Amino acid sequence: MTTVTIRDVHKAFGRNQVLQGVNLDVAAHEVVGLIGPSGSGKSTLLRCINALERVDRGVITVGETVVTARGTDLDRLRRRIGIVFQAFNLFPHLTVVENCTLAPVTLKQLHADEARESAREQLAKLGLADKADSYPDRLSGGQQQRVAIVRALMMRPEVMLFDEVTSALDPELVGEVLASIKELASGGMTMVLATHEMGFCRDVATKVAFLKDGRVCEEGPPAKMFSAPEHPDTQQFLRRVIEAGRL
Ligand code: ADP
Ligand code: MG
Repeated sequence: MTTVTIRDVHKAFGRNQVLQGVNLDVAAHEVVGLIGPSGSGKSTLLRCINALERVDRGVITVGETVVTARGTDLDRLRRRIGIVFQAFNLFPHLTVVENCTLAPVTLKQLHADEARESAREQLAKLGLADKADSYPDRLSGGQQQRVAIVRALMMRPEVMLFDEVTSALDPELVGEVLASIKELASGGMTMVLATHEMGFCRDVATKVAFLKDGRVCEEGPPAKMFSAPEHPDTQQFLRRVIEAGRL
């Protein structure tokens, strides 16, 4: 059972103390929604989980692996953690299937035909069966983002990290990507998602963590976090979200 534990994690960029003692647990099959003002360190925290950033202090574990220990095989770790960003970064010269099979085949995780079969299967699950042989520029942003999700899933990750994956999309395309993430959640995937989509977060998360000033200021079940938050900073954040019409 994979769980992610984050203990007293600190991270600064120069003199900018971004994470200042983050504590958070993600149990197997849990969907943790990471919310908080822009600049509160959500992306940095996700990047620390799969060691795209080195922490200054503190411990992160994913399953049995201590991410923050020296000598941890980071390539191996990253294969177990899927990450999807705001920008999809598909290779334009490769078809959808080729984009999806590149990593597992290159890393010898799957044979080419096995990988293609698996890619088509996953693409079909996310409603992209008829796009398998297209090039990315023939796809909408929402379709490209769903391909990016499939590409991450191809490594059979134990945990998926999503960083504002709908922020770059036209509003009418947001729904299809959120539906894909929801599909993954209902399949039992363990995930952490940083998101501005508060309604979606309330809907899909099993736990919501509010990040402020480099710490988890408050965490709890979505019903409580969105309806009756206890911390004044969470209350204020949510008031602003509601005023902006985002919940
Ligand atoms: P969020 O995702 O919550 O908006 P980020 O983690 O992106 O927050 O950023 C938190 C802070 O860290 C910001 O002040 C940002 O400018 C800074 N930051 C993030 N990444 C870097 C980096 N690679 N180099 C320098 N500063 C960074
Ligand atoms: Mg961010």
